[in-house]
Amino acid sequence: MSKVYFTDMRTKPGRNLLDKLQILIKKAGIEQIDFKDKFTAVKIHFGEPGNLSYIRANYAAKIVGFLLNQQAKPFLTDSSTLYLGRRSNAIDHIESAFENGFNPVAVPCPVIIADGLKAIDYKEITIDQKYCKTAKIGAAIAEADVIVSMNHFKGHEQAGFGGALKNLGMGSASRQGKLELHSSSKPIISEDLCTSCNQCVKNCASDAVHLNNKKKAEIDYEKCVGCGQCVAVCQFDAAQPVWDSSTDIMNYKIAEYTLAVIKDKPNFHINFIMDISPNCDCWNCNDAAIVPNIGIAASFDPVALDKASADMVTQSGANLNTVLNVHKYGEFQNVDKFKLIHPNTDWKAGLEYAESIGLGSTDYELITI
Ligand code: SF4
Ligand code: SF4
Repeated sequence: MSKVYFTDMRTKPGRNLLDKLQILIKKAGIEQIDFKDKFTAVKIHFGEPGNLSYIRANYAAKIVGFLLNQQAKPFLTDSSTLYLGRRSNAIDHIESAFENGFNPVAVPCPVIIADGLKAIDYKEITIDQKYCKTAKIGAAIAEADVIVSMNHFKGHEQAGFGGALKNLGMGSASRQGKLELHSSSKPIISEDLCTSCNQCVKNCASDAVHLNNKKKAEIDYEKCVGCGQCVAVCQFDAAQPVWDSSTDIMNYKIAEYTLAVIKDKPNFHINFIMDISPNCDCWNCNDAAIVPNIGIAASFDPVALDKASADMVTQSGANLNTVLNVHKYGEFQNVDKFKLIHPNTDWKAGLEYAESIGLGSTDYELITI
């Protein structure tokens, strides 16, 4: 049984939430990790601009301050997105991070976009699992000595909820890795969006894509091996993944990618169970939180941490005026609200699979401090 440490949202003068965060991580044993001179990836989601439910930079500053005191070399990091937005390449991504408060004034360490300028800089880590033999992990995360994850716990339209596993597994994948997680098919080209820039043609190692007589990219599916490089290099969203309908398999692959991220490295995880919006922070908006803020939890075991967090959301009553359409405060207590909002997802199957590959335990002891 894994230990999950938890602190609620209550504060008093001299003991604010930042103080409580520091106490929490120490109680959970983070000081057991030798951080001295270690490149420490603080894996976080900076939030798509317009979204306001991502983790506040103040919390990141507290964690980074702690790591600096431990003589670590910390950096805030995330990989760029698969789809076009304001976090789909390193320049836009860093600007978005700064805009959302993750800048050198607020947080005393660099922001490094893990998979590089155009989201194609990754290391292939061998994991030999059922769905993925290797995982394409953003190079800066793959090369880090220690992983600390700061995870906003909320709903997710494809995974059911997003917590430690989603932030680590999906969030650390390079764009090609994300393609692998989301899809088992070969990409398609949207002619309307294609600008004839020729980048996909130049970067396809299988010589499978060419500009046709309309000067639009066209894939030869006889030659295409589905590597996703054209999706990765297309800056116009014209080369697109075909999204998988099976969210279960995506959750299993996320677990396998998480294994690749933390394999053979000291790692520690913190879930911020607050501003629990129904959908991912990748949206440029956040719908009303479905339950009241719950608190912060920390553990060495990302599976136990996610299970404990999900159980706390299940146990909580729901907020009024949300997507759940609750009319009386406290309704939906002991109901799996993520399943209600995203009925085609099965987060429990994802956690059970994660447990089966040795990522952690769904059995946990919750220690409240
Ligand atoms: S990279 Fe994108 S926009 Fe450029 S030619 Fe290929 S599909 Fe068209
Ligand atoms: S998926 Fe890979 S092989 Fe297929 S067209 Fe794109 S770059 Fe070429």
